[in-house]
Amino acid sequence: MSTKLNILVPVKRVIDFAIKPRINKTGTGIDKTGVKFSINPFCDIAVEEAVRIKEAHKALVNKIHAVSIGPAKAQDILRSSLAKGVDSATLIDAKELDIEPLSVAKILKKVVEDKQSNLVILGKQAIDDDSNHTGQMLAGLLNWPQVTNAAKVTVNTSGDAVDSITVVREVDGGEETLEAKLPLIITTDLRLNEPRFASLPNIMKAKKKPLEKLALEKDFKDIDVSPRLNVLKVEEPTQRQAGVRVNSVDELIAKLKELKAL
Ligand code: AMP
Repeated sequence: MSTKLNILVPVKRVIDFAIKPRINKTGTGIDKTGVKFSINPFCDIAVEEAVRIKEAHKALVNKIHAVSIGPAKAQDILRSSLAKGVDSATLIDAKELDIEPLSVAKILKKVVEDKQSNLVILGKQAIDDDSNHTGQMLAGLLNWPQVTNAAKVTVNTSGDAVDSITVVREVDGGEETLEAKLPLIITTDLRLNEPRFASLPNIMKAKKKPLEKLALEKDFKDIDVSPRLNVLKVEEPTQRQAGVRVNSVDELIAKLKELKAL
């Protein structure tokens, strides 16, 4: 395995985080009509981290490659990732299919092998399905070590080669620091970094960067992407009733007695 980094960043196009999702008429998913889509926020953090690693260790990074499995429109998030510093990208056109994390992980395994990646940085979860599965499943399929929910990533060098990677994770009540050799899977947590905006000149330059287009049906036909889960129903959270303001402790006690809470 090379001691220079070949970083792969899988990015997912999801409903923009600032949009309040509406449930579809059949109650089995989110209504996607007329809704703004963007890069999944945790994937944006993954792109930023890969670019920061390259900026800090230029000679040690061969390439940052981004990949997205989704509709043709997912090339928008690949173009913006290229504008932020990713070197090349692959769109795997899955038409309008919603692909479950295990199938995504199987597809990504092929991409890792094809691109000879030795560091994969993924979001810890996609905010549309909230699965939090793909990184872990990919690590399992590849039999690679994984560090999930990274809050800080440090590349340790030895001469002109990558020796190991240290990752700090936020855990209940503190921090955990782990070290691993390549190849490695990292998933990103919210506080890892603050993603940059792409500048206009970089957006223009990114148009010349390579964006390969593959078709799921044709180029990955040996991978079974049929769903294993059946969504029975999706519901809005129950509305909370408005509270009542009281002016004194006596009034509070009277209220609680009235509600038979005391
Ligand atoms: P999930 O396991 O679905 O919560 O997704 C976790 C991470 O896996 C995301 O943040 C992405 O980095 C990656 N991922 C999931 N689905 C896709 C997809 N369709 N295309 C590319 N990357 C994906």
